[in-house]
Amino acid sequence: MHVVRPDEPVTGRVVRSELCTHGGAKASGIIRHVEIDVSGTPMAGAFRAGQSFGVVTPGVDEHGKPHKIRLYSISSPTGGEDGSGNIVATTVKRLFHELPDDHRLYTGVTSNHICDLQVGDEILVTGPNGKRFLLPSRPDEHEYVFIATGTGIAPFRGMVRELLGAGPDRRVTLVMGSPYETDLLYHDDFLAMEREHERFTYVAAISREQVGARPREYVDSALRRVAATVAPGLRSGRALVYVCGIAGMELGVLRALADILGDDPAALAHYIECDPGTLASRDAWDRRMIHREIKTTRRIFLEVY
Ligand SMILES: Cc1cc2nc3c(=O)[nH]c(=O)nc-3n(C[C@H](O)[C@H](O)[C@H](O)COP(=O)(O)OP(=O)(O)OC[C@H]3O[C@@H](n4cnc5c(N)ncnc54)[C@H](O)[C@@H]3O)c2cc1C
Repeated sequence: MHVVRPDEPVTGRVVRSELCTHGGAKASGIIRHVEIDVSGTPMAGAFRAGQSFGVVTPGVDEHGKPHKIRLYSISSPTGGEDGSGNIVATTVKRLFHELPDDHRLYTGVTSNHICDLQVGDEILVTGPNGKRFLLPSRPDEHEYVFIATGTGIAPFRGMVRELLGAGPDRRVTLVMGSPYETDLLYHDDFLAMEREHERFTYVAAISREQVGARPREYVDSALRRVAATVAPGLRSGRALVYVCGIAGMELGVLRALADILGDDPAALAHYIECDPGTLASRDAWDRRMIHREIKTTRRIFLEVY
């Protein structure tokens, strides 16, 4: 971590920037896949899938202070886009909204700075950051359940590529939640990986429109839908569960795990520790109970923002 410290950012160069939404410009959000060349800096070869890095926006904020660093998940495998750790990718959503008082447009500082950059432009980066949301040191010993919403898919793009690229297939399930089909990220890439790797399952959960015969659903219902695929790994305790995306999605995922494993308290205890009364009243769980009455074990990795 922090091979490049926040107060001494290094200069990378944007080498690719493209929309990565399935519907391109038709998507409801603007989300770009951005690749940055960090060769020749200490960042090169120093990052791992699942970590994030900092971006410094030039200029000052409304108080005249330098902009604070914002973090962006690395969406490349550990070897980067090029295999030797020189090109790091991320997945950035432009943030904008109307101010409530005078309905003027507010644009998020750093997300728009990154998305505005053209190929060849310089970008100030720091990091990498994060020491927990990582793949295990012995990846072959595990199966994987990845659950993402929105740009939460970023770390999983890197992790899935890393796992599928390294020898015999491991059972990997990826559930991606999105309001509309047009907003799915890297959709065609994941479909192609699914065709190529028998033990990779990709599930898109669309919450605000019905696609074909599939009902509208959130990631937790999609997880229940693929219970037969994920349950053997979960029951054995071999599976690791990673959750990344909008804050608020954790509860539904934990509840879905409790539903899938609820008849087997020993299996559930691999992932969630809670007393029988709490388990029985899971329909009434709320977010504040996470880490208190509902304790997650080291087999669950949560990164929500
Ligand atoms: C570990 C980690 C990883 C991350 N990874 C990614 C990633 O891969 N991709 C990505 O796009 N982002 C990611 N983020 C989020 C990212 O760091 C920034 O927070 C995000 O891009 C917004 O930054 P900004 O500078 O554009 O917006 P800012 O200028 O910081 O504006 C955000 C501000 O606007 C306010 N705000 C936001 N929405 C509204 C609203 N609707 N109404 C009123 N106020 C509002 C918020 O309170 C906040 O203060 C990650 C965050 C963390 C902590």
